[in-house]
Amino acid sequence: MISKSLKATLICSIVLFSSCKEESKIPEKTMSDNVLIQEWTGPYDGVPAFDKVSVEAIKPAMEEAMKLNLAEIEAIANNTEPATFENTIVAMESAGKELSRVFAYYGIMGSNVSSAEFRKVQAELAPKLSDFRSQISQNEKLFQRIKTVYDASQKTPLEAQAQRVVYLTYKQFEMNGANLNAEKKKRYAEINKELSTLYTDFANNVLHDEENYITYLNEDQLGGLAEGFIKSAAKIATDKGEDGKYAITNSRSSMDPFLTYSTERELRKQVWENYYSRGDNGDEFDNNKIIAEILKLRKERVGLMGYDNYAEWRLQDRMAKTPENAMDLMMAVWPAATARVKEEVADMQTVANELGDKITIEPWDYRYYAEKVRQKKYDLDSEEVKQYLQLDKLTEAMFFTAGELFNYKFTPVAEGSVPVFHEDVKVWEVTDKDSGKHIGLWYLDPFARQGKRSGAWATTYRSSDSFEGEKNVLASNNSNFVKPAPGEAVLVSWDDATTFFHEFGHALHFFSADVKYPTLNGGVRDYTEFQSQLLERWLSTDKVINQFLVHYKTGEPIPATLVEKIKKASTFNQGFGTTEYLASALIDMKLHLADPTDIDIDKFERETLDELGMPKELPMRHRTPQFGHVFSGEGYATAYYGYMWADVLTSDASEAFRESEGGFYDKAVADKLVKYLFAPRNAMDPAEAYRKFRGRDAKIEALMKDRGFPVPKD
Ligand SMILES: [Zn+2]
Repeated sequence: MISKSLKATLICSIVLFSSCKEESKIPEKTMSDNVLIQEWTGPYDGVPAFDKVSVEAIKPAMEEAMKLNLAEIEAIANNTEPATFENTIVAMESAGKELSRVFAYYGIMGSNVSSAEFRKVQAELAPKLSDFRSQISQNEKLFQRIKTVYDASQKTPLEAQAQRVVYLTYKQFEMNGANLNAEKKKRYAEINKELSTLYTDFANNVLHDEENYITYLNEDQLGGLAEGFIKSAAKIATDKGEDGKYAITNSRSSMDPFLTYSTERELRKQVWENYYSRGDNGDEFDNNKIIAEILKLRKERVGLMGYDNYAEWRLQDRMAKTPENAMDLMMAVWPAATARVKEEVADMQTVANELGDKITIEPWDYRYYAEKVRQKKYDLDSEEVKQYLQLDKLTEAMFFTAGELFNYKFTPVAEGSVPVFHEDVKVWEVTDKDSGKHIGLWYLDPFARQGKRSGAWATTYRSSDSFEGEKNVLASNNSNFVKPAPGEAVLVSWDDATTFFHEFGHALHFFSADVKYPTLNGGVRDYTEFQSQLLERWLSTDKVINQFLVHYKTGEPIPATLVEKIKKASTFNQGFGTTEYLASALIDMKLHLADPTDIDIDKFERETLDELGMPKELPMRHRTPQFGHVFSGEGYATAYYGYMWADVLTSDASEAFRESEGGFYDKAVADKLVKYLFAPRNAMDPAEAYRKFRGRDAKIEALMKDRGFPVPKD
């Protein structure tokens, strides 16, 4: 009944907002003639009309969809009935369907088939989208209704999923200042404005130092460098007007291989110093004062809402929940990581001595001698490995894994029956192996092309929720493999095969969702990479190896000795990797827990690392003045720990399989995996979900084992 009256108000609002001349004649809100807004038609409960996408249509579609959504929100906010779960939260969950359809196209155009024209549209839409979001987040009437429902739910709890969606919706508003009085709200907005300028300045300063500290080499300074690296260094130098020289730019992709292979120690030192001094050169591009200012403003802002510090505010809706929990985890791993660094340095010193290099290992030597140790101890021929990793076979291996764990069957959809945005895209139907029940469609866009962003990722065009009836899932995986000549196998590296499984893990997380409301499909930053990381583990299980990791010519499975080498190599240099990462994550957290009044960033970093016992042979992965994750925005502020948090869960959960009778294919463990770790997404508190899966909280032992560290005793 409530939804009926709501629909009436909706149509009114749309009439008010519509740019159409014949307003009063619009009978339904889906009558837009823009194809990108229209409901999806065709097979499988409707699929996106990717064959009809055009750059011209996107801007008007987005603008119209935003308008429709704002009208819906206004109608909810201005409802004269008292606020209830149905007329407020459910109504919000139901709103914005046109917008999500447009976003499915917008995402494709931005990531898979981008163009200069589209980027222009994107730039025009960016401020409008940000404006649109603040119009909702700052809607006072809307928030008061959400608060009413939330307060009532605290006295009389709703059923579990309803209770959670109320909590998440309320938190999202509350954490962004919706609960403040007018005066505090004003200050809150001022702080955010100041912060956004500081974030931009911070990022620009790092960029300045990346662009302006280039090391040019002469022909006689190329010792140890690979041919491909030299060629691209020559090209960069030519582009910069230094023909005949070789440019080492001040970026990770240039610094890392140079420090790994160059035999020129003095130059290694120079490249290292340039890189780790970004934003810290004591000039007008120095970031130390900006960081101090950011920390002060962040603390003041969360203080307005009554929080003690930024970390406490940030972590309340994360799996870790408190800064103490995150710190405890990091400090539990830290001693083993730094102890391993000592061993790695000793190994490297031995190699240096054997080579007759009269040196003591310094930070600019670490990668160079580590590579020598790797060649000696863990030599792995990546070309040999590739011959056993064919894209088609890996795809079959993923289907097999999904079949064993999720009981899914993947069947190719006849070409032409489902529209795609590029001829390379293939589509499969996902069904339940036993009941044949339709679950959704899986789109795979495997190959690199002009206009496609780099890397690999997963998305959904339609996610599952059930509050308005069951919905099938349309999910996609996207990679950048090099397209082969017709009829030839695509051979990929071990890393790329792992990533392929990782992204498929995200897709399975989408397919298996069993949530009532769309908001419950959302991710939790320190949790949402765990499911995908976990799926990577099936790549090296016996069943996958024996059936699918077969030589592209002979069909022979990959030899056990080679698999052993791959596994052993995965613990290589973990002292370095874990320590440089943890040092950054610890400083991130400690900076936000400290009192920012009169803070001297440089001194703070130095003294904190000293107290922690940071080995002098390596720096933080991201030193504070260049820590863009934390200071050129808020995405990873007091959240950098999250990578390790997810790693602990991954190792601990795969241990549950390893320990079980059926190993990685144990049916009972797989059932729990789907039921508690995948299907609930954010419908259940992640910590509680994990406990239901494992019977206890995650422990760090398995992670220590995976990284080759000694396992601590209880
Ligand atoms: Zn991922």
